[in-house]
Amino acid sequence: MPLKRWNIVRVPVERPVRPRFNGRRESWKIVGSRREWYKLSEKVEVIGRYPREKQPKLIASLVDGCILDIQESGRSLGIVRPRILDHYFEKREDFKQYIQKTIDGRFRIRIKDEFPVEPRIKYRCSECRIRRGFHDQQLLELGVYEWIRKHPDKIEQVWENLRLDDPEYDKFFFVGNLYRYPTAFVIISVLRFKKQF
Ligand SMILES: [Zn+2]
Repeated sequence: MPLKRWNIVRVPVERPVRPRFNGRRESWKIVGSRREWYKLSEKVEVIGRYPREKQPKLIASLVDGCILDIQESGRSLGIVRPRILDHYFEKREDFKQYIQKTIDGRFRIRIKDEFPVEPRIKYRCSECRIRRGFHDQQLLELGVYEWIRKHPDKIEQVWENLRLDDPEYDKFFFVGNLYRYPTAFVIISVLRFKKQF
């Protein structure tokens, strides 16, 4: 799928069929996703790339004050500007190591449940409405799991790779909630921009 970050794509979509359609405004499926799943990528047409110099402004315009605002407005996706308090790896007790093959058998992937550790970040939003404490959420950023898989002895470096503690970068979290657990938000991706001086 040519769905890379900042690509602008044209894709024919339709609402999922009830009862599977959960009513979320952001829920769309690619037309024909049921019968033509093997050629869905052909339906995604890249028509441009969002200009680099405009990216920080776009993201800043989409920021919500707090996760609670996103949740209460009934959205499942949003962007917050975090003040990061801590980041850590939580050991997974349900960790089962096994390798999963893709359909063509060529690539070996592990899904997130099969990683021994779960990267998590503690933070407060720019206008956080949690009175005491903070958000403590799992980070799903794919690159982080790739790094853990390739460098199991250097996992702490993922935080550096993300520039999480680097004051020269503005950070934003692209967050979403889980379909079955609408109050459980996760960090889908970390967006960062070098500050302009
Ligand atoms: Zn908050």
